[in-house]
Amino acid sequence: MNELHLHLKVCEGCGRLWLRNIGTSGVYCQRCNTNLAQFPARRRRTGRPHKISQVCGQKKQVLENCGGEL
Ligand SMILES: [Zn+2]
Repeated sequence: MNELHLHLKVCEGCGRLWLRNIGTSGVYCQRCNTNLAQFPARRRRTGRPHKISQVCGQKKQVLENCGGEL
């Protein structure tokens, strides 16, 4: 009698639920694994998104213009 041993996991790449075979490792769903295999260096480059750095730069500029009175 064959039994399927599956764990319900939340993908750390896209946040979707996926089923992982017990005995295997991995935190990404099959789609994310495929994407990561195609673009292995993609995650490292996007470690610091441009949008956040732009927002931080604007806030810093505002603080400097106000003379730190905030
Ligand atoms: Zn995923």
